[in-house]
Amino acid sequence: MSKTGSCLCGAVKYTVSSEITEAGACHCGMCRKWSGGIYIGIQVAPDDITFEGDDNITKFPSSAWAERGFCSTCGSSLFYRVTAPGPHEGTYHIGMGALDDTSGVTMTQEIFTDLKPKGYSFDGDLQGMTEAEVMAMFAENG
Ligand SMILES: [Zn+2]
Ligand SMILES: [Zn+2]
Repeated sequence: MSKTGSCLCGAVKYTVSSEITEAGACHCGMCRKWSGGIYIGIQVAPDDITFEGDDNITKFPSSAWAERGFCSTCGSSLFYRVTAPGPHEGTYHIGMGALDDTSGVTMTQEIFTDLKPKGYSFDGDLQGMTEAEVMAMFAENG
């Protein structure tokens, strides 16, 4: 079933055509600053998302391999998107918080756990990866 999402002011809307069931939190310093909290992303293939009002999206190249999209008016964090050439190029990680209906989506993973501020933590049985483990995974996958 498709899901819809939007920024806070409604200038940007999107529809995801594929079924999304899993989300992952990232505790890296970039996601923390960008989201103003904890970024919880859901992986979506480039062909599975369509935007309305995309001229209201500002894209910020946050690293050599990815950009982040946010609403130019209200600032809502909308997506992290891989820009580096390779098998993941174009893949979106949309923010779970911007979905209109989050039912059926379960957070199963958290990454950069060693960078997580000590003042909060998630409940439940999540798969965790440290910064070193994440970097090793990307190195393996080329
Ligand atoms: Zn907005
Ligand atoms: Zn991150």
